[in-house]
Amino acid sequence: MQSLKSIPLQQVQVDDRFWNHYTSLVRDVIIPYQRQVLNDELPGVERSNAFENFRIAAGEAEGDFYGEVFQDSDVAKWLEAVAYSLTTKSDPELETIADEVIDLIARAQEPDGYLNTFFIGDRKDQRWTNLTEDHELYCAGHLIEAAVAYYQATGKDTLLRVARAFADHIDSVFGSEPEKLKGYPGHEEIELALVKLYGVTGENRYLKLAKYFVDERGREPNYLDAEYENCADKSKYRNPREWGLKYSQAHLPVREQATAEGHSVRAMYLYAAMADLARETGDEELAEACKRLWRNVTQRRMYITGGIGSQAYGEGFTIDYDLPNDRSYTETCASIGLIFWAQRMLNLEADRQYADICERALYNGVLAGMSLDGKKFFYVNPLEVWPESCANRHDQRHVKTTRQAWFSCACCPPNLARLLASLGQYCYSYGENEVYVHLYVGGRAVANVAGNKVQLAQRTDFPWDGRVELTVSPETAGEFTLCLRIPGWCDKPSLRLNGVNVELGPITENGYAKLTRLWSEGDRVELDFPMEIKRIYAHPNVRMNAGKIAIARGPMIYCLEENDNGSVLTDIALPREAALEASYDPDLLGGVMVISGEALRSGELPSDDLYDTKPSEKVVASLKGIPYYAWNNRGEGEMLVWIREC
Ligand SMILES: [Zn+2]
Repeated sequence: MQSLKSIPLQQVQVDDRFWNHYTSLVRDVIIPYQRQVLNDELPGVERSNAFENFRIAAGEAEGDFYGEVFQDSDVAKWLEAVAYSLTTKSDPELETIADEVIDLIARAQEPDGYLNTFFIGDRKDQRWTNLTEDHELYCAGHLIEAAVAYYQATGKDTLLRVARAFADHIDSVFGSEPEKLKGYPGHEEIELALVKLYGVTGENRYLKLAKYFVDERGREPNYLDAEYENCADKSKYRNPREWGLKYSQAHLPVREQATAEGHSVRAMYLYAAMADLARETGDEELAEACKRLWRNVTQRRMYITGGIGSQAYGEGFTIDYDLPNDRSYTETCASIGLIFWAQRMLNLEADRQYADICERALYNGVLAGMSLDGKKFFYVNPLEVWPESCANRHDQRHVKTTRQAWFSCACCPPNLARLLASLGQYCYSYGENEVYVHLYVGGRAVANVAGNKVQLAQRTDFPWDGRVELTVSPETAGEFTLCLRIPGWCDKPSLRLNGVNVELGPITENGYAKLTRLWSEGDRVELDFPMEIKRIYAHPNVRMNAGKIAIARGPMIYCLEENDNGSVLTDIALPREAALEASYDPDLLGGVMVISGEALRSGELPSDDLYDTKPSEKVVASLKGIPYYAWNNRGEGEMLVWIREC
């Protein structure tokens, strides 16, 4: 088993024409905006109460807890995003605000280490009694992740000490020892957080506890089942058997699971933790389970945009090939979770399939979750929208046709913020003698490889242009391997080393071109990944996409919008031989590559009857596609990814 590590955010600086917009959005718009939301300073925006809940818990304010049972996690995710932002750019004012929030959190912690603002006062005796629903361990996980990130960013350990005390408390409550509860969370998250806590503290108990939580899940007798059976007041609980143990991936021990089931965000966080543990402990069986699940998700249950979750009920997976475009759930958080998992799979097995999916989800399923100005968000990311239908159909009630300012269940916006603020850590990995470049994102990185400090500088116009310039500067000349991902979408990649063409065939392994040589200051690698416009066909088992194509160029998936193509987008059909052209429009949607061509649509109708024996006339109509992530930034309207081909 391979064991690579991601080059940490502290050693990566993103400086990229496409991504700079997003990193500054997170810093200048999203983080300040979310702080105001969490502090209820914005009129007309969904009440949060998240900071106030901590004040109440600390005894510094009157009133009752308000919000979802997992409201605390919004604060933690915000702090984590702040930490990543501070890692890449110092901001004393923001750091002071964050320090104050951290002090407040510390004051809300119980003497025994417990910390959750819902379970105070009258609800104190309900702690750890409803693991299926209550999200205590989920919130703890987010708190731990924030603490690790803040410590790494600032060297300050107040939040880390809070997180450790809570983790120690949890360790005293849960485990396989007879005196402990044999439970595990309904919503995974703490598992991957504990691995991070182990990483920064070196405390083996945290790794052991993560492994316990992962391995206990789904074992018989089933804890979540028993919890329901034994509870006194069943009205407060959902019967897990009725809802399905699959919902929490608790239907089987994780090592026996072969298909992705249940709530898709939960599944992603679990699988990410499984991959972490497999790498940390060299657990081949767990690594195999991860690969099996990866194949099922990406080959049977994933949308072309990197979205996952096919139905609103249970917010989750359904069956193989069931990928309806207009009723999908495709939660932004689920695509983010897919990226977390992909990053960990890459470090377990450096195979480009993981980086390809990471890139796919990043540029499509994830970015679509946010408006271009960073102020509005999608929770659900459909691939086909007819607004009137969404407004009137019960089975599409979850599909919002415009992004929202905030949600009562506000998991996605802060999740987006923390992902985008930490983008740098997804770009590179390193091993003993090798450095991997997974994502082509402009900027700089420093890798410690083969006892050498190696500077990497990337320049590129991804995702619009496939040329990449990479300068490699080791501190002292030395031998190591530079591994460069050849994207799966590229048919004719080429590579030049210090101006000389290098044949890729003999040096490419698992989708990475591997250059082993004596590197010295200023060595220059030029990559070219021509971005051709591609028509993508779905497997025939995907009933919804029969006779349809999706348009892709490089990592981007395209969609049609009503603004450019008129209404009833499903009426448009693209002839198989029709030429498509790409052109960059600097004035559209912040600057995007547009795809255009000639398609056909209905002209004059034989009658106004609902049904007729004669077909309508076909007329030529221009077709204009924009990148999927940029849709719904020009008002409400129809949108379509899968287009009929004729
Ligand atoms: Zn979410």
